[in-house]
Parts: sequence; C-alpha cells; structure tokens
Amino acid sequence: MNAPQPARKPLMALDAALADLLARATPLAATETLATVLADRRVLAEDLVSALHVPPQDNSSMDGYAVRLTDIAEKGVVLPVSQRIPAGHAAQPLEPGTCARIFTGAPVPPGADAIVMQEDTREVGGDFHAVHIDAVPEAGQWIRRAGEDVTRGSVVLPRGTRLSAASLGLAAGIGAAQLRVTAKPRVALFSTGDELVMPGEVPPEQMKPGAIYNSNRFFLRVLLERLGCEVSDLGIVPDRREATLAALKTAADHHDLILTSGGVSVGEEDHIKPAVQQLGSLDLWQIAMKPGKPFAYGTVRRDAGAGADAQGHCHFIGLPGNPVSSYVTFLLLVRPFLLKLQGAAESEYQPPFKTMPVRADFDLPRADKRREFLRVRRNADGGLDLFPNQSSGVLTSTVWGDGLVDNLAGITIARGDLVNYIALSDLLA
Ligand code: AMP
Ligand code: MG
Repeated sequence: MNAPQPARKPLMALDAALADLLARATPLAATETLATVLADRRVLAEDLVSALHVPPQDNSSMDGYAVRLTDIAEKGVVLPVSQRIPAGHAAQPLEPGTCARIFTGAPVPPGADAIVMQEDTREVGGDFHAVHIDAVPEAGQWIRRAGEDVTRGSVVLPRGTRLSAASLGLAAGIGAAQLRVTAKPRVALFSTGDELVMPGEVPPEQMKPGAIYNSNRFFLRVLLERLGCEVSDLGIVPDRREATLAALKTAADHHDLILTSGGVSVGEEDHIKPAVQQLGSLDLWQIAMKPGKPFAYGTVRRDAGAGADAQGHCHFIGLPGNPVSSYVTFLLLVRPFLLKLQGAAESEYQPPFKTMPVRADFDLPRADKRREFLRVRRNADGGLDLFPNQSSGVLTSTVWGDGLVDNLAGITIARGDLVNYIALSDLLA
C-alpha cells in the first residue's frame, strides 16, 4: 500500500506575496550625482527645489502688440508703436497712448495689460510706425504670467520621483545641470538549465536534441537595465548543486540582488531552492498565479567583511524557467521590488500594476484554479483579442500582445464581458 501523501500547502496569493516582497525591500542608502541628461529612469534622492519663477517674468504667448486697455475704448483705434521687444530682450515701460511690437516669449513691458495678436491688427502705411487695433482685448489676454509653471521655492520634483524625459526637461527648466539620484542596485543575473545554449555559440542547424537557446537572459538583462540596475551577467549555471552553491556564494558578496531563472521548481534537477536554503533562507515560494507559479524569494548570507550591508544578506529572487512566466513575474513582482529598493516613492510602485476595464472580444470557457494573466491585444473596435496559445513557453504571445488580462481564479469569460486589462507599456517604461 502507498503511504498517505502529506497535505499540500496552499500556494500563496499574489497580493500577499507582493506585500511580503515589498516589505523586505529596504531602500538602499547610496546616492550619486549625475548630469541631468543622463538621469533618465533614475530615482531622485532629494527634493528638487526651484530658485526662480518659471516663466521668470510675464511674457507674451503671441506675436503681436502689447497695449494698455485704457487706450482701446473701441475697435479700430490707431496706436503709434513706441518700442520693439524681441524674445530675450528687456522691455521699457509702455508709454501711455502707444503700443509695443512684441514677439512670442518676449517680456511684457510694465504698464501693458494685454497683448493683441498680430492677426487682429493692420499696419498703418506699411512701415510699422503705427497700427490699427481691430479687436478690443480682454485684460491679461495672451500674457503668460511669471511663475504660472513653477513658483520660486517650490518643490518641482519630490525625492523618490522616477525621472522621465518630461521630468528631466522640467529640471533643466529651473537650471538644474546635475541631479542627485540613488545608486544603481547591483544585480547578479544567471540562468540555470543544462539544455540552454547561448545564441552565437552553436548555429541553429547544429543544435543537439533537447538543446534550446537562452531567451530569458536577454529580456531579463534589458528589463533590469531599464529599471536602473547595474547588471552582472553571470551566464548559465549548470544543473548541479555544487555549481549552484558556488554561483550564489560568489554573487552574494558584491550584489544587492541575485536574480535567477529556472531550476526553482520541484524536480530533482531543480537545485535553486535547496541551495538558497543552505546559504541563507527561503522566505517565499510558489505563488497562485498562471503563468508564474514557481517564484521564489529568499536571502543569501554574505561572507563577513565583503562589503555586506547592515544585515549581511543579499536578496535572492528565483524566477520560473518558462519564458512567459519569467517575463510576467518580472514585470508584476520584481519591478516594484526594484523600484522600492532604489528609493522610489510609493506612488511609483503602488499599485504594482494598474488595471482598467476593457471589453473581452473572446471567450474563456474554462477557468483556472489560479489567478491568470492572459496575453491579449487591443483591437480596432476597442475590445481585446486573446492570443490563441497561452502556454507559458510561448514567448510569441508577449510580443504579439500589448497587455495582460488579470483574471481571478475560477472566473470564466464570455465575449462582451468587461475584464481587467493591464497595459504592458506601463510596466516596460
Ligand atoms: P525549469 O524551471 O528549469 O524547470 O524550466 C522550465 C522550462 O523553461 C523548461 O522547458 C526550460 O527548458 C525552459 N527554460 C528555462 N530557462 C530558460 C531560459 N533561460 N531560456 C529559455 N527557456 C528556458
Ligand atoms: Mg531547469
């Protein structure tokens, strides 16, 4: 007779796993100063405060004429032109009973209270000495006020902002040539699997039976770099306990995170879990999600004196080997973890992914026991199409798709239902 099987532990819910993972991501303390133009996607380490108003003075938002309202009781008034103010030049006070020729971005002369756009004027005699004003302006018309974008002394970008092209432009607009950002998390990346071959090592027609190319290494490295990490690419580690232990030990000393893919399942060829348990602790393992069940978090002890942080541990995250599982768990779990680790404000990673209701133009008649992340694409009718093969090995689905449907366990989908759509572009930025 067979011995009774031990009761299987229920898998951890994704939300609980995310909360647990984020609670363990203590922000790193190191910072560095970078030229503003090099700080894209980095996290600001201090509040950026403006020392001036933007715009610095009231200025014109049109090519036209600066006027005093009291001089224009009705349409058709003729005013002599008393000065000419191009952008970048100072203005003199506006003489009463005259107007000033003014160009977009030029300072409004003291005394003027509106701009009449060029299209609402006609020159008298064609020599720009005087103009007909063909419209009665409203007070403040076409004037951009000093400080309407940024006021002196205000926080333009708070500490913890993940910088974007637009925020770098704003920083430059207040004169910031350099920015203090948090240091890059140092991440050691390795793949496990004796079947893996690096592209370029063996040509496709000479691949041995059972061999496959290593795809995870490529997208993981790129995703890490986009998230502002310094990546040490440690290549492929063979499916042997000793090799796995050696790779983890070496990597722990000089990195903040070890990220692996594959080998984290339950087979005898899966050495990651016991190796992490031996060298530190395994705190999180297996999440009730599809794809992505074999996800692990733990820590690996550092050797004393090897640049260890306060706890003397290096974070460890083991991603599944299946490429789609690896990709999806990276975006949903590792991304917020790394943002918090480099000091990003909570608003940058909470919620870790945003969903919006979109109509399903497909059926999902069979629900899964796990929360499922389906690869979908928005169609021209504003609905979602489903990639026909949802296997976790089919990376084509992630290239074809522009999003995921977050479908809770046990829920079937019928054409026309509103489902929770996650835009992949949000997570790839
Ligand atoms: P594992 O989690 O190691 O059992 O791997 C699960 C599946 O993912 C297997 O079919 C592996 O061949 C495949 N796999 C693992 N690592 C990679 C990788 N780096 N690139 C592509 N496929 C992989
Ligand atoms: Mg494997």
